[in-house]
Amino acid sequence: MSAARFNGAAVWAGLPPEAQAAIGAAALEHEAAFRYFAAVYREGSGATPAVRSGEDAIDHTRERLDDLIDDYVPAVEYVDPEDRPMLPSTLGPVCRACGHGGVGLASLGAWWTEEDLCSACAGGAS
Ligand SMILES: [Zn+2]
Repeated sequence: MSAARFNGAAVWAGLPPEAQAAIGAAALEHEAAFRYFAAVYREGSGATPAVRSGEDAIDHTRERLDDLIDDYVPAVEYVDPEDRPMLPSTLGPVCRACGHGGVGLASLGAWWTEEDLCSACAGGAS
């Protein structure tokens, strides 16, 4: 069984401008927190004040983004008509046997032998 896909672009297009502004800014703030953390983590060793600030920034911006999304995007947008959860549309194909796709498939060193069957599962899957 393959999960239906969540189309983020379509949901985004349906949001009012104030929601797009708030969520967009929060997403960029979250990215800034990750980049800050990545930069100071490489420079330092252990739990320096900068690393702790970066960790807190990631937590804070993630919570803010979650709250804004909860405020503006109805939960029904994340399920298909039968109320089943959906995978992101940007993930690409996933293997019908193991469920891996994208980066997960690459980490296995596997490739596609069919549209929805990876080389690691080929031969053992039906
Ligand atoms: Zn597989």
